[in-house]
Amino acid sequence: MAQNSSTLKAILHAKCPRCHRGDMFTHSGFSLRKFDDMYEHCPVCHFRYEIEVGFFWGAMYISYGFSVAIVVAVGVSLYFLANDPPLWVYAVGVTGSIILLTTFLFRYARVLMLYLFGSVHYDPKYDQA
Ligand SMILES: [Zn+2]
Repeated sequence: MAQNSSTLKAILHAKCPRCHRGDMFTHSGFSLRKFDDMYEHCPVCHFRYEIEVGFFWGAMYISYGFSVAIVVAVGVSLYFLANDPPLWVYAVGVTGSIILLTTFLFRYARVLMLYLFGSVHYDPKYDQA
C-alpha cells in the first residue's frame, strides 16, 4: 500500500493502524469459529495491538453504538417499507440483523477502538514493501 495508503481503506480491511499492511485478525469475518482471533502483534511492523491490558473492553461501547444504529435503521425501514408491521416483525428483523452482523460488529468495533483511541498513527517508514 506504499504511496497510496489511506486510513479509510486500512480500516475497512482491518489493517494495522501503524503500517496499514499487517492484518489485525487471523481469520476472515466469515469464519464463525475464529472471527475474533487477533494477532497479538502486527505481522508486518510488530506493533502490539492490545496497547494496555483490557484495551479492547472499550470496543463494547462502539459495538453498542453500532447495534443502536442497526435497531434504528431496521426499525425505520420496516416502518416505512412494510407499512408499520406488527411488533414481532420488528423484533425478528432487528434480532436477525444483529445476529447476521455480529462478526462484523465485533471486528469493526475493535478496529475503530484502535484507530480512534489507540494513540497510534500511520507511519510510512513501516509501510515498505
Ligand atoms: Zn503494522
